Amino acid sequence: MSEQKKIFLRKSEEIAFDLKHRATIKFNMSKYDAAVDKGMKRYSNLDLAKTRASYVKTLAINNLHNYLLQFEKNITANGASVIWAEDTNQAIEAVKQIMIENNSKTVVKSKSMTTEEIELNHHLEEIGVESLETDLGEYIVQLAGEKPYHIVTPCMHKSRQDIAKLFTEKFNTPEGSEPEYLTGWVRQKLRKKFTTADVGITGANFLVADVGGICLTENEGNALMSVSFPKIHIVIAGIEKVIPRMEDLGLMWPILAAHGTGQQISVYNSLITGPKKSSETDGPEKMIVILLDNKRSELYQNDDQYGALKCIRCGACLNACPIYRNIGGYTYDATYSGPIGSVITPYYKGFKEYNHLSSACSVCGKCTEVCPVKIPLHHMLLINRRDAVRAGEGGFAWNQGMKAFEYAFSKRSRLDLLGGKTKNRFALLGANAMGEKKQIPQMADQSFSKQWTTKK
Ligand code: SF4
Repeated sequence: MSEQKKIFLRKSEEIAFDLKHRATIKFNMSKYDAAVDKGMKRYSNLDLAKTRASYVKTLAINNLHNYLLQFEKNITANGASVIWAEDTNQAIEAVKQIMIENNSKTVVKSKSMTTEEIELNHHLEEIGVESLETDLGEYIVQLAGEKPYHIVTPCMHKSRQDIAKLFTEKFNTPEGSEPEYLTGWVRQKLRKKFTTADVGITGANFLVADVGGICLTENEGNALMSVSFPKIHIVIAGIEKVIPRMEDLGLMWPILAAHGTGQQISVYNSLITGPKKSSETDGPEKMIVILLDNKRSELYQNDDQYGALKCIRCGACLNACPIYRNIGGYTYDATYSGPIGSVITPYYKGFKEYNHLSSACSVCGKCTEVCPVKIPLHHMLLINRRDAVRAGEGGFAWNQGMKAFEYAFSKRSRLDLLGGKTKNRFALLGANAMGEKKQIPQMADQSFSKQWTTKK
């Protein structure tokens, strides 16, 4: 069993029985459920909207090479530059180079899972650059020295009391402060940082090929501020973020908002097509877009799984997943958690070390049902499991156990050879392998079919 799998099993058991964690997640998820339920009702034909969104992303992914080149051509024509980064090292080196060349010491950052993927803040710290998260949720987890818990709502695991306590500890704010007070407090603090930062770093929700633009969708205006004040704007985006046309945003922006937060559309939606023009007063003088591969091309080569690149990171599958709701975001030990994380993480971080995530699934299919771009997530999780077994990752005990299971269950008469007591002993062995808390119902002394035959 890999070390990651052992850690995963231990953490799952701890978190699933942490009652405070459970209560916080239940409360925060209930807010999400209510908002999203309302958001979905705004669509007269939700399934049609999802089919169209799926089509847009399928078109983009099937022609990834062409759309990326089109994006590059158009955005460079507007004065931005594009850097292609094959992996984390190349992306980090490119950012460091920009910081050194421009003698930049401070960064304001908007929320971006791609920058989490390459652990950008950590690398910037190493060269003495202060990188400040400006999304409120990200700001809170950065303050707590943690990573985002969820791809859309980074501090979903914290209650308002937890956050008030954190602020009191760090900044001596009044004990038990209300969220409104703390939001105002952070806003004042960040204002100064926006106006003095050397560089603004953002991700991109979409890269629009036909106009060469990057899209940012947000609710706090912090991404727009991160772009507007500093003289340099760096964008770090995965290559799968491309969409063909600007007109696709009319569909993609609302469907992302509806599935991410239940909103009709997010509060601020920006399409940025290059640095400031000579006739303009606001905006950065330089704009650099780093297009990150980081194993996406490898995933693209996989005929069964490349469709996972359609993901628009709405987070709906995480919220729908009964496993995620019980074991929480940190247990996955990955940037992308929940069903989509369990599909792609083995490709991004190593199949041997992370294929176990695909087994943490009850195959209920809820993730597939809620996905706005119709990714067949539960099917893909099964494919990962199949590939893990084919690659011999199951281990000797697992493989022999499954063979025995197949042999016993392929014929009723074989199952009936054993009495209830023996079956219960075998079941107990299985339960122990699943952890102390697993309880298996007791089996009757005789199987139903035997009882039926006897009674007849
Ligand atoms: S896989 Fe689908 S539901 Fe999950 S985050 Fe991506 S787009 Fe949203």
